[in-house]
Amino acid sequence: MPIEICAIGGFSKTEGNSVAIKIDEEVIILDMGLCMEDYIRFTEDREDVQGKNYRDLLKAHAVPDYGFLEDWQEKVKAIVCSHGHLDHLGAVPFAAPLFSKAPVVSTPYAIEILKSILQDEKIDLKNRLIPLNLGATYTVSEKIKVEFVTITHSIPQAAIVVIHTPYGNVMYVNDFKLDPQPVLGKKPDYKRLTELGKEGIEIVIMNTLYAHAHRKCPSESVAREMLKNVMLGVNSLGKGMIVTTFSSHMARLKSIVQLGKELNRKIIFLGRSLNKYVTAAERINLVNFQKDVKFVNHGDKIQKILKKIEKEGKGKYLIVCTGHQGEPKAILSRLARNELNFHFDSGDVVIFSCQVIPVEINIKNREKLEQSLRKTGVRIFTDVHVSGHGALEDHRDLLEMIKPKNIIPIHAGAEKGRMLAEMAAGLGFKNTTILSDGDKRTF
Ligand SMILES: [Zn+2]
Repeated sequence: MPIEICAIGGFSKTEGNSVAIKIDEEVIILDMGLCMEDYIRFTEDREDVQGKNYRDLLKAHAVPDYGFLEDWQEKVKAIVCSHGHLDHLGAVPFAAPLFSKAPVVSTPYAIEILKSILQDEKIDLKNRLIPLNLGATYTVSEKIKVEFVTITHSIPQAAIVVIHTPYGNVMYVNDFKLDPQPVLGKKPDYKRLTELGKEGIEIVIMNTLYAHAHRKCPSESVAREMLKNVMLGVNSLGKGMIVTTFSSHMARLKSIVQLGKELNRKIIFLGRSLNKYVTAAERINLVNFQKDVKFVNHGDKIQKILKKIEKEGKGKYLIVCTGHQGEPKAILSRLARNELNFHFDSGDVVIFSCQVIPVEINIKNREKLEQSLRKTGVRIFTDVHVSGHGALEDHRDLLEMIKPKNIIPIHAGAEKGRMLAEMAAGLGFKNTTILSDGDKRTF
């Protein structure tokens, strides 16, 4: 039984990504993600923000179910997270204590994000945290090595994880896109991926979120042009301009800051999560926004700066804030509800540099937010955005590079898995195994 796989999360549902790989008597867990929809519902229903525990989160279906591991649990040697998004790493604070001897290995940015979450949650995690650079290798044991290969996505430092074993290589390709002009960070490491294809890939566990989309995902440089078209292209003279985007999307924020400077507007970042992710990126020198941006985090300070903006003239400022999914407690919704020292006027510009993540709670929240914004007469620009997820043509290029013997779809249900399988079979890769959460298979 050389390589055994246990599908834990992200196989039956879209999120809560987690999978375990067993090599003889050693197990590696790849990703430990939250189911964001269930997690948001769970946290919104609670008064106390801290004190969340694994058992309650599991009951709420917000974390992967490690009960599926059964007798593998004692054999876990490392928890390896592919990048810093919460549906890949967000369950670590709650679930990693189940495997307290196993270190958590991820990219430096993801580790910084994890540290911030641990601090916020007041959790003292016993597991060692190991930052591993892209292109580097971590030795888990005599038999197992973990390599991070550079890939592009919508957060800095996303990795394709390669598990080197005596029985061949297992490749974990979760969130990815193939971006030739990523705006921030390096291009995908095609050279290494091709080399690995030649060395041989026994199994690839592959993201299928956009397997239904017969296209190539546009580059982040396209999103920069889209932003430029709106931010520099509309007549915003003397008007307020507000942009909202994903807090961890440093490439997008970099474009927004550059364009704000071109407009000669003073740039203000408002909101806790935005400041948390940017500060984590600044700590490891991924970005340097400090010199161009004023960060404002907390209640009183937010009120103060908004008062100042109203007094000096909204046309002099660019506000970048949280709330792109219409989250009721985020800054943009609070601005729209007139809860802060700020009033929208007709002609003010609000740019959503994001897409609505298509789950019920977000769709409802965004509708509500847009309705109340429209009442004020502001100009709303939505979907000024490109995805961070490769579509079927990206999958095709990657499969041809790595030439896997076996394919296991992850991060979407069976239907999208079958779409990937069909395309792969057309290229001659005929062994796709579709798993559900809890399934175990030997290869
Ligand atoms: Zn991601």
